[in-house]
Amino acid sequence: MSMSAEQPAIHPGHYRLIVNPQSGSGRRRQLIALLESALRRRGHEVRVLPTQHAGHATLLAAELPAEVTAVIAVGGDGTFREVAAGLLDRPTPLALWPAGTENLAAKHLGYRANIAELIHLLETAPVEPIDAAICNGQPFFVIGGVGFDAEVVQRVSKERRGHISRWTYFWPIWKTFWNHRFPAIRVVADGTEFFRGRGIAFVGLMPRYALNLPITPTADCRDGLLDLCIMPCASRLTLARHSLRTFLRLPFWKKDVIYRQVRDIRIEPDEPQVLVQLDGDNAGILPAHFISQPHQLRILRPATPDQAAKVSRSRLRSSTTPSAPTHEAAISDWA
Ligand SMILES: [Mg+2]
Repeated sequence: MSMSAEQPAIHPGHYRLIVNPQSGSGRRRQLIALLESALRRRGHEVRVLPTQHAGHATLLAAELPAEVTAVIAVGGDGTFREVAAGLLDRPTPLALWPAGTENLAAKHLGYRANIAELIHLLETAPVEPIDAAICNGQPFFVIGGVGFDAEVVQRVSKERRGHISRWTYFWPIWKTFWNHRFPAIRVVADGTEFFRGRGIAFVGLMPRYALNLPITPTADCRDGLLDLCIMPCASRLTLARHSLRTFLRLPFWKKDVIYRQVRDIRIEPDEPQVLVQLDGDNAGILPAHFISQPHQLRILRPATPDQAAKVSRSRLRSSTTPSAPTHEAAISDWA
């Protein structure tokens, strides 16, 4: 099917863009302005809601009136997490515009920063429920971690100034590597004790972690289950081996990691101040109780890569026809 920005949409929608002004560069801000005007030309009502402080996106999402057709979270995984938290168990569907550093959720679900694709998605995509999880009352949607990576997250958030890049993580990882104490933990999942000892634990709803590392590779955000990965680890040498193996995508030996798909996880510390992170944000200390919340978030399901390519091609064709307005080409260039 072909789509033109000059041909109004059949069903005008009411869209809200919740935008984190901290994430992304100036070029991305220009793209958002283009997206906004493209939606208006299609006859949709659009309002941009910039976030002003941590947690603001959750409040903005939770207060949206019922007539809002869909919310677009513009930012990285932190913004996605905040917006989604405000939409839990509510009918308003969510779409993502990836504008952060990693964009793990957007990548996994298939969203791209492409104007033609997003408009097509808003106007035609089916609504699909995906899973959430709660840890000590706080929702998350991608991956939570206990121990080493939570310490890295805490160092990054202390040193963060504005937009972060992958390099922002280098020194925090280095410092954590040399200072980490490898705390002992006890992990009980679905009522059974799976692990007691020094180790790092991850709870994943989606397969990829920072730097695209496959920490919970079989995680599926539609199966109602939490993927639990425990890496027994009592020394820097073991940590280096785990890291290298994950980084090189080498298979783990059965004895190296404990991997289960469960619904309920309790992690207790054998010592104080063991940190927890959820989707890259600090989330306090152990003990932690993770509970699966199946199908609690409604998203607009992106097209498969093949369908998306078809939309982009029809978009390009319409932009090169003589009658096409000049902004069409500009949008295709951005996309
Ligand atoms: Mg799952």
